[in-house]
Amino acid sequence: MNTINSQQLFARAQNSIPGGVNSPVRAFKSVGGEPLFIKSAKGTYLYDVDGNQYIDYIASWGPMILGHAHPAIVAAIQEKALFSTSYGAPTALEIDMAELIKTMAPNVDLVRMVSSGTEACMSALRLARGYTGRNKFIKFEGCYHGHADPFLVKAGSGVATFNIQTVPGVTAGVANDTLTCAFNNLAAVEQLVMENKGQIAAIITEPVAGNMGCILPEPGFLEGLRSICNREGIVLIFDEVMTGFRLAAGGAQAALGIDADLVTYGKVIGGGLPVGAFGGKKEIMQHIAPLGNVYQAGTLSGNPIAMIAGYTLLKQLHSNPAIYTELANKTLYLHEGLEKVLQEAGVPFVINRFGSMLSVHFSQKPVTNFADAASANNALFNQFFHAMLQRGVYLPPSAYESWFLNNALSYADLDATIEAARSSINSLC
Ligand SMILES: *Cc1c(COP(=O)(O)O)cnc(C)c1O
Repeated sequence: MNTINSQQLFARAQNSIPGGVNSPVRAFKSVGGEPLFIKSAKGTYLYDVDGNQYIDYIASWGPMILGHAHPAIVAAIQEKALFSTSYGAPTALEIDMAELIKTMAPNVDLVRMVSSGTEACMSALRLARGYTGRNKFIKFEGCYHGHADPFLVKAGSGVATFNIQTVPGVTAGVANDTLTCAFNNLAAVEQLVMENKGQIAAIITEPVAGNMGCILPEPGFLEGLRSICNREGIVLIFDEVMTGFRLAAGGAQAALGIDADLVTYGKVIGGGLPVGAFGGKKEIMQHIAPLGNVYQAGTLSGNPIAMIAGYTLLKQLHSNPAIYTELANKTLYLHEGLEKVLQEAGVPFVINRFGSMLSVHFSQKPVTNFADAASANNALFNQFFHAMLQRGVYLPPSAYESWFLNNALSYADLDATIEAARSSINSLC
């Protein structure tokens, strides 16, 4: 595979962009090697600057759920751009978008648009704090909620330990209000709540985790969080930035049958443009400015080009529920194909799957939380990643990332992926 143009661009990029990339995972640090520079994409295929073609399992980390350069979305953006790209004043399209979101997620009474998942989560937490008058919150180790300070706290070893050790730049004052415990560990949540009675504003979780591979909630876990929050007056926030409009038209809330108090969206909601949103119960949402006094704002929030891209995609998803069945069937097909190939190779592995999210962990034991994901043979995953890339399959460049399937994938593409996996794993074991 010739990647000389990518290599040259990466060398050039490092002189003007930190690490040569505008978001760290793109740098391939986890898997090693150098990133590919992409020139274009269509349907399920990515094309790099050297003309190599790849089957894409990142889908821009989710938004390209119907494939790249979807004709309806491209046309809608082109048409809208002629009318100016931003006004800084309200538009009818923002109401259309909010109404569509409410239809798709019926427990959302009010929704505020922002420009990223980070903003959505940061604002939802501020709102939960403003609403409850409490400062602390619980997040789960290995869940990602964007890069706002309070979410960057890593879990300490014990559930009762305050997490003073933080990312440089995050103050201890901020970190002390972030309580963490292992995903799927309801007993640990109960203990944190008991030790911090009346002080916890929110519990935030990815309902199906996608930032430590794909990790499913065990039966009863989310239900347990729901009842603890009800009992203690804690705001339950589902971070549906990955799962929203992906696991079902109504997101994980619909797929799992559990309603949160606040929900955050990103990724799919923008159809590939920078969009996020947070919404939920009116009783809580009415505390946001200008209705209430919890401040939140954005110069480009509800931007018309971003709105038309997201709206056009959501319309497609809403009006054609068969998309979710098709995606789930394709993901199951890939799962079964990979399972067969990896079994034949005799390598220990675990495949986690939910809807159109899937991850392969080279692990001997079930992967139910971050510690399990971290204890897998991730060095083997890194080799597997490069072997797949050589064979034209572009997986997320980290063992801690979920794969995202898009509905432009054909069964021939899935067969090609499974064959690439067979050849890759046989070359490594
Ligand atoms: C990607 C992601 C975010 C952050 O969204 P950005 O748009 O990258 O700021 C937040 N939460 C989850 C679950 C995510 O996957």
